[in-house]
Amino acid sequence: MNLRDLRIELVYYAKRILEEGLTTGAGGNISARKEKVMLISPSGFCLQEVAPEQYVEVGIETGEIAKGALRPSSEVLMHLACYRQRPDIGAVIHTHPPYTIALTSSGHDLRAMFADSVIYLGKCVSHLDYITVTTPELASAVEKVIPHCDCTILRNHGAITVGENLKQAFWRACSVEESAQIQLLATLAGKPRFLDKNEADRLESLGSEQYRRQLLARMKEFQPPRREGSKDGK
Ligand SMILES: [Zn+2]
Repeated sequence: MNLRDLRIELVYYAKRILEEGLTTGAGGNISARKEKVMLISPSGFCLQEVAPEQYVEVGIETGEIAKGALRPSSEVLMHLACYRQRPDIGAVIHTHPPYTIALTSSGHDLRAMFADSVIYLGKCVSHLDYITVTTPELASAVEKVIPHCDCTILRNHGAITVGENLKQAFWRACSVEESAQIQLLATLAGKPRFLDKNEADRLESLGSEQYRRQLLARMKEFQPPRREGSKDGK
């Protein structure tokens, strides 16, 4: 994908983030990597209002902003830290999701209660206690946890999800908020039952590439049952 197409994809997912209620106003930011540069949302804009050409090109190793570009998001250091630590990722999404903030700022960790949360987020979700937003301290705390997991909760602030591409990072962002909403409701309703280690291990393997290959092979082997009485079994 070239930079022009990546800009268009960023606009699409930025709108989806707002539509899903994962952030409001000028909160949250989004970026995607193309080789040695990232494109990141500009500072001071509502994500919904950013045009393709307004995404700011920043060198990942150099931290240099392309000439004539707007000012990058104030969380630019956090995004750079993610790409520098994770050569395998192509996108970073930072949101301010209300259920996630409510649950995790009240002393709870986000925990797996149902299949999708394990399949999308894996078994590892990091939780960082509050650090002032936009600071180098926050970027450096994220830098330490991001090698180990694809989702980090920032208590009293929001969440960061990373992915191979924008689609994966976006689905993870949605899954974080859905998981938090269910856990919060379950906590209010009574005593939530969380998935145990064996259940989570089994689910995690469902999301793996190996499982998908096995599933495809089994689908090819599948033969529909013959119906009694039909001449050729069709
Ligand atoms: Zn934020």
